[in-house]
Amino acid sequence: DQFLRVDALTKSFGTNQVVKGVSFGFGKGEFISLLGPSGCGKTTILRMIAGFETPTTGTIRVAGEDITHLRPNQRKLGMVFQAYALFPNLTVGDNIGFGLKVAGMGREERRARVEEMLRLIGLPGFEKRYPYEMSGGQQQRVALARAIAPKPRLLLLDEPLSALDAKIRVSLRGEIRAIQQDLGITTVFVTHDQEEAMSISDRIVVMNAGHIEQMGSAHEIYNRPQTRFVATFVGQLNTLPAATFGPDRAIRPELVSLAPRPETDMTLTGTVADVGFLGSVLRLRVDVEGAPISIDTFNGHAPPPQRGDTVTLHLARKDVLALGA
Ligand code: ADP
Ligand code: MG
Repeated sequence: DQFLRVDALTKSFGTNQVVKGVSFGFGKGEFISLLGPSGCGKTTILRMIAGFETPTTGTIRVAGEDITHLRPNQRKLGMVFQAYALFPNLTVGDNIGFGLKVAGMGREERRARVEEMLRLIGLPGFEKRYPYEMSGGQQQRVALARAIAPKPRLLLLDEPLSALDAKIRVSLRGEIRAIQQDLGITTVFVTHDQEEAMSISDRIVVMNAGHIEQMGSAHEIYNRPQTRFVATFVGQLNTLPAATFGPDRAIRPELVSLAPRPETDMTLTGTVADVGFLGSVLRLRVDVEGAPISIDTFNGHAPPPQRGDTVTLHLARKDVLALGA
């Protein structure tokens, strides 16, 4: 389970340590996301894996081989950046074939591989186009094809969707995931978008200020966050009244309901302070012992609660999160 292994990795720029002892290991074929707020060190870690930055300390291994000090072109990795990194003066075909040509692949074999890649990304027949003739989403597909054409052993993606608009972003992330699973290529995907990370990843590394807060599947990260930072970064959180629950106890809004559910085993009484309309759901704010509790209820719940109503909230003890600092 150690196809990609990073140990005690640090990076300082001058006196500023931006990566503070990061270690993780992942299996072949896994889709891993580095998730965290802007500035937490995600790109720096990716660039160290790629060989564009030298670690201050620590090691990086791929398939058991120490690659920490190899040059980028010796690492057999493919990389896609945020946006518009295609060679603007080359056709789509020449962009995708670039790495193949550098590797010495002959013209015919190259042409066949480019064609195969264009089919894979859903752009057959686009060989002769230029980047400026295509949408941002199409360009990012081509960038992906260019990265995977030489069959790299690792695919590194640095916020490849963040410059695209919301609809394209969601459809393209599904395509990336499908292609990745198709090829079985081990992938490290950097994003600051928690929904993106949760929807696409086998495992997520949640980062904060240069260190790892938690690693796990989307389910583990969302349902069993180990720190308040993780819990609030990947979702909404209600802090429960300390008088009843003790300090640092919290629950997700969607796990508090106005009606009992099979798993609920306790109730709280409160007063509706606000009703927010979010389309498919209503988000109520209910004051319970002075603590504001947000809860989500399906729009269409009849009759909808009103401000000032006294309501009973149902929740399950097992859903209460105990969070450290
Ligand atoms: P992220 O990708 O999570 O947004 P980065 O890895 O780009 O974060 O940056 C982490 C920190 O390192 C930031 O504070 C950034 O300003 C700093 N940093 C990144 N690259 C350099 C550099 N070449 N020189 C100095 N500081 C840098
Ligand atoms: Mg970045």
